[in-house]
Amino acid sequence: MSRVLSEIFRGNRAERIVGVLNVRALSAGSASNSDSYDIVIVGGGIVGTATARDLKQRFPNYKMAIVEKENGLAMHQSGHNSGVIHAGIYYKPGSLKAKLCVEGLQMSYKYCDDKKIPYKKVGKLIVATNPAQVDLLHDLHERGKKNKVAGLELIKGEKSIKAKAPACTGLEALWSPSTGIVDWAVVTKSYGADFQKGGGAIYLKFEVTGFEEAKDGAHPVLIKSRSGKTLKAKYVLTCGGLQSDKLAQMSGCPASPKIVPFRGEYLLLAPEKAHMVPTNIYPVPDPRFPFLGVHFTPRMDGSIWLGPNAVLAYRREGYKWYDFHLGELMDAVLFPGFRKLAVKFLVPGLGEMFKSFYTPALVKDLQKFIPAVETKDVKAGPSGVRAQALDEQGNLVDDFYFDMKKGQGSGSVSERVLHCRNAPSPAATSSMAIGKMIADKITDEFKLKKA
Ligand SMILES: Cc1cc2nc3c(=O)[nH]c(=O)nc-3n(C[C@H](O)[C@H](O)[C@H](O)COP(=O)(O)OP(=O)(O)OC[C@H]3O[C@@H](n4cnc5c(N)ncnc54)[C@H](O)[C@@H]3O)c2cc1C
Repeated sequence: MSRVLSEIFRGNRAERIVGVLNVRALSAGSASNSDSYDIVIVGGGIVGTATARDLKQRFPNYKMAIVEKENGLAMHQSGHNSGVIHAGIYYKPGSLKAKLCVEGLQMSYKYCDDKKIPYKKVGKLIVATNPAQVDLLHDLHERGKKNKVAGLELIKGEKSIKAKAPACTGLEALWSPSTGIVDWAVVTKSYGADFQKGGGAIYLKFEVTGFEEAKDGAHPVLIKSRSGKTLKAKYVLTCGGLQSDKLAQMSGCPASPKIVPFRGEYLLLAPEKAHMVPTNIYPVPDPRFPFLGVHFTPRMDGSIWLGPNAVLAYRREGYKWYDFHLGELMDAVLFPGFRKLAVKFLVPGLGEMFKSFYTPALVKDLQKFIPAVETKDVKAGPSGVRAQALDEQGNLVDDFYFDMKKGQGSGSVSERVLHCRNAPSPAATSSMAIGKMIADKITDEFKLKKA
């Protein structure tokens, strides 16, 4: 297998790994009625696969499977993101988010080196373009230093900024040399390949629709799928991203925190202007808002993505503005927490919607950093949908949130199905550290011992 993998990494990595996974992946239709596993992980995104990989390495004799509703891994957030390896500058010192990001960055670089997954350490500039942002930039610098982000440097004046990015303008900037870029879908598929290599099974097109008591002493949880096929498990972990609250409700957990989908749309910069963006260029984030702001991101294929914005998606997996599902939209807007959030962010929210339809307004924001970017240089690009967890009060859930019905009911389903309802961004960068943390939690919660 290792020879097969090294051959894959010499060629077109993403596609050929999918090819390997497809050869060995079991579709829902091929699950015998009903296969039994020690642990089943629901969700083939980067969090589910990183955790599955970690669990398989620590319990090699356990029979494990990943089940994924799509026809491949990384089909949602893990395959639709900015592709940045974040350095850990923004997060509150001492917080789990900061710790996991800084650890995750180091683990990601090492993993990519070991597996020969291509990445580029292109660095990142966070640029203050007006005097009011300079103090905020200094605060970020302090935060970054407290979080032990390597090599941070404050650079003052236009000339020093231009030394890093000749087309960029600004008053002062924070330079982060350890920030990088990678294709997180390739990393997710590689975690999946490791899991398979260790003996784990991957079921694609297996959409979980419910959990029931299996009436099997050894494997008491029955996992039902849309196709009618079932699996049995001793323990289940769900890492369902945009569907994580729905999966939690399937084992009797409450509806809240709720996932509200926010689409992030990107513009593509004309290839002849790509040379203007040799590094990531970010604004100083406005502390009143939850997202990082529209940025310039070089991609592994040489293209430049500009964005993402943040607008309500009219369906959970709605990648286009016209993707609409009445039930899912009503589900979001009737949630009291969403209405409170909408009131709180009414003005900036409307501004984001306006810029989503009127590109020149978005280009105006981008020109604060690179004045030479013009509307004619950009066109609509891809998009991603963020799984934003919200509580009833309209607060954004910014921390990990695990749920299990344990103690509130009886039976195996309430005691053996653990849900990761929120894995906050940058969960791709932090994925290996998150995988380890969740694997520790499962080992502890279910008192797992080496077989
Ligand atoms: C626009 C955008 C930009 C971002 N940029 C960055 C970045 O630059 N760097 C970074 O580190 N992070 C970034 N992030 C965050 C990062 O991409 C996510 O935090 C991460 O991918 C989440 O992974 P996940 O496994 O939790 O979710 P997902 O990747 O969404 O995976 C969940 C999986 O569960 C499956 N599933 C759901 N329900 C079921 C079911 N019933 N049965 C079976 N399977 C099911 C889904 O099909 C899906 O494959 C970004 C996110 C977005 C949206």
